[in-house]
Amino acid sequence: MKILVLNAGSTSMKYCLYDMGGEAKVLAKGLSERIGIDGRTSLTVDGEKMVFDDPLPTHEAAFRLILALLTDPARNILMDIRELNGVGHRFAHGGWHIGGNTLVNGEIRRYIPGCHDLTPLQSPYAELCIDACTALLGAHVPQALVCDTSFHATMPKRAYLTPLPKDLREKYHIRRYGFHGTSHQYVAEQAALLMNRPLPELNLITCHLGGGCSVTAIEKGRSVDTSMEYSGISGVPMGTRIGDLDPHIQCYILEHEGMAPAELQDILYHRSGLRAIAGVGPDLREIEAAAAAGNEDAKDAVELFCYRIKKYIGAYFAALNGADAIVFTAGIGENSPGIRAGVLEGLDRLGILLDTARNESCRGKAGKISPDGAPVAVYAIPTDEELMIARETVRLIQMQNA
Ligand code: ADP
Repeated sequence: MKILVLNAGSTSMKYCLYDMGGEAKVLAKGLSERIGIDGRTSLTVDGEKMVFDDPLPTHEAAFRLILALLTDPARNILMDIRELNGVGHRFAHGGWHIGGNTLVNGEIRRYIPGCHDLTPLQSPYAELCIDACTALLGAHVPQALVCDTSFHATMPKRAYLTPLPKDLREKYHIRRYGFHGTSHQYVAEQAALLMNRPLPELNLITCHLGGGCSVTAIEKGRSVDTSMEYSGISGVPMGTRIGDLDPHIQCYILEHEGMAPAELQDILYHRSGLRAIAGVGPDLREIEAAAAAGNEDAKDAVELFCYRIKKYIGAYFAALNGADAIVFTAGIGENSPGIRAGVLEGLDRLGILLDTARNESCRGKAGKISPDGAPVAVYAIPTDEELMIARETVRLIQMQNA
């Protein structure tokens, strides 16, 4: 079964083509960037990366180019687009409209615009991709929405209820939904493999630290709490996103600045977080470099980031009554020994220890970074949300055909 996975952002479209027969095999992958600006598309096949500067005025143009690259006879990836058995889209917030992972049909397609308010950085662009697929592949090719929120559907009420008045909660479906679910689930499964233990026996705390950041408590393989609540700006502070915020601060700013809600939303999504403290960034590499060069604001940002993550780890250690392992993943979690060390510093009384040499040498690959025999194992594990989306797309197609 050939499955194409698409993950769209406002100016980008990540893609990965899998052959899902038996062991999943990546046939090709790449990224279209600067959509609507100028355009740049990469294609990697068998480890060889090519870059194309064709203009990309729209997401549909990007998808058209991706299909052309994948079906170019010179490359022998796909003979024809009819070889594609399905497309899996990353969909950030299934919310109450869509619920969980699903194949797209007329009814689901109509619900999609209702999700845009919740994930303005993601779902409008997923919609563009879905329409581009329908236009260029035909409506008969199954398309799946695989939601970041699905893995967190197992949270108990005490974790997901938001203590607002019932009428407001119900009218706006306000509760904790959680995000990065496919990533948390993937690294939890990988951690179980590395520990050589069944996932349903393990309590884990997974830290997805990338452009967006979230921490999840996983009890016996199921998400029981997670740091992002209703939207992707809550929880730990991120490169430009605020993270948890005393709600009074928002009311105060709106009132005293005479600011429109959309303006404040822009500040909370794009002008807050680590960059707002550091004065540089938001890429953590820039912030770490500035801190290493003695920039006090950048040092504050790094310390705040590590401390806020550590507090979630402490909270989830309590929620789970102890954890078997802690897992770091995504761009920062996989690549920054400094952040991992800062987060775990001073947690030895919880049995959480770091092996400095292992931590330093583990960058962009899976590895144990705690000493052997420590009560809590610590791992860095590269995430693979695309593979999870491809697997789920196959499962949904097979269920429909059964
Ligand atoms: P997303 O998919 O959410 O955009 P990623 O998981 O790719 O994000 O993570 C992106 C972030 O990872 C970047 O903002 C950067 O801060 C961080 N990052 C990537 N490589 C490194 C590194 N070597 N050291 C520290 N941080 C890194």
